Amino acid sequence: MGVSSTQTAVRLGHRFADALPELAVPWQADEAPAPRLLALDDELATSLGLDPAWLRTPSGLGFLTGTAVPDGARPVAQGYAGHQFGGYSPRLGDGRALLLGELGEVDLHLKGSGRTPWSRGGDGLAVVGPMLREFVVSTAMHALGIPTTRSLAVVGTGRTVQRETGQPGAVLARTAASHLRVGSFQLVRATDDTALLRRLLDHAIARHAPAAADAEVPALALYEHVVAAQAQLVAQWMLVGFVHGVMNTDNMAISGETIDYGPCAFLDAHDADTVFSSIDSGGRYRYGNQPLAAQWNLARFAEALLPLVHDDVDTAIPQAVAVLETFLPRYEAAWTAGMRAKLGLGADTEPALVTDLQALLQANHPDHTGFFRALGRAARGDAEPARQLVLDLAGFDAWAGRWLAAGPDADAMDRVNPVYVPRNHVVEDALAAATAGDLAPVHELVEVLRSPYVERPGRERYSTPGPAAAYVTYCGT
Ligand code: AMP
Ligand code: MG
Repeated sequence: MGVSSTQTAVRLGHRFADALPELAVPWQADEAPAPRLLALDDELATSLGLDPAWLRTPSGLGFLTGTAVPDGARPVAQGYAGHQFGGYSPRLGDGRALLLGELGEVDLHLKGSGRTPWSRGGDGLAVVGPMLREFVVSTAMHALGIPTTRSLAVVGTGRTVQRETGQPGAVLARTAASHLRVGSFQLVRATDDTALLRRLLDHAIARHAPAAADAEVPALALYEHVVAAQAQLVAQWMLVGFVHGVMNTDNMAISGETIDYGPCAFLDAHDADTVFSSIDSGGRYRYGNQPLAAQWNLARFAEALLPLVHDDVDTAIPQAVAVLETFLPRYEAAWTAGMRAKLGLGADTEPALVTDLQALLQANHPDHTGFFRALGRAARGDAEPARQLVLDLAGFDAWAGRWLAAGPDADAMDRVNPVYVPRNHVVEDALAAATAGDLAPVHELVEVLRSPYVERPGRERYSTPGPAAAYVTYCGT
């Protein structure tokens, strides 16, 4: 089959590889013996100037798996370091990923494309279930208006990959504003090469905070930009009940996008102590600790930037700390504004209405998504659906009376409180079907998640919490 006539040659830039060769190892993807398209975001493809019809051809699949790279492209595996669960790993990097290049302003990146110099003991591969999981959850996050890397496609490779059992292999093609992470800066800082650190800073500023270039101290201006972006991002995770699960510094993007969908999952019951990841035994990345985990990562980012803040470290530290100290107030402000919106109220809302609801949620563990959506019905006069989700009825009635007296706007609430998030039991069932060869449930789920605020009769299963038994997610899959 030939190349579709509507697809002109794809041009992939190599700005990152040019600017930071020390962090970029020229590399190529493994062969995919029998590529088969499992999921494609047509709209995203079109917005990137890629013809979805072409992406479905053998030549398009070659592009999506990195086995046929466009002329002039220079794929690289990126190096980075990172704190994983608080312990420093000096040598991480793209162990199973490749940066194909830049499509306009965004990175086009592959996951599961084979071993690289950073693979350590790993096989460099990925399997269908987890790659479709990233496709589903990142698509949902985007539809919910939360900054995120995007999933362009998942292609089955036709290879069997050994996990606990043999699993069908897959490659995910994703886009991101960039793949610069806190860990990228940590890797360079550890080399003591200040000129390289400055080059990395300049590259990050050019891509994510151009105004910082003109600041008195550009490193501090970039830092402030990232602190603000992360405060917004984590507030949005908290509002929607998202648990990232592996907030290591190599998984915190300088762009402020959600990156690395491994053991992530959404709350059913609201509980600050919720942990889904099988390896997070200490609960470091539990739902309620995400703001503090982000702040900890941002402190590590500051340490990496210090030589660029000021030559004298005793001057640099207090300047960086002053910016870091704005993180929690910024987070609180973003979260409070988001809660007011979820409650359909304006900026003059009595603060205790929000904090009292937070206490009520934590004490009663109602289904997070269902409760907020049901409040929309309460605002229209039917409090029963929300009321049924809590045990402390007197507490709910007292709070709801005060809230209703403030005059919530039910239509505004329905525009910010989703009906549908990727429910764990629904996602698991869809992925199991896909792994067994039936893609229909994944495609139906993605379609529903693309319009998360639109109620669909007949799709009640998608908005119903799963069994109360603890849900467990796995990393490195
Ligand atoms: P994560 O925290 O999931 O982003 O992964 C941490 C590190 O492990 C990164 O450097 C990954 O590239 C690497 N990694 C994860 N899975 C594999 C694999 N199957 N083969 C090689 N490296 C891997
Ligand atoms: Mg990662």
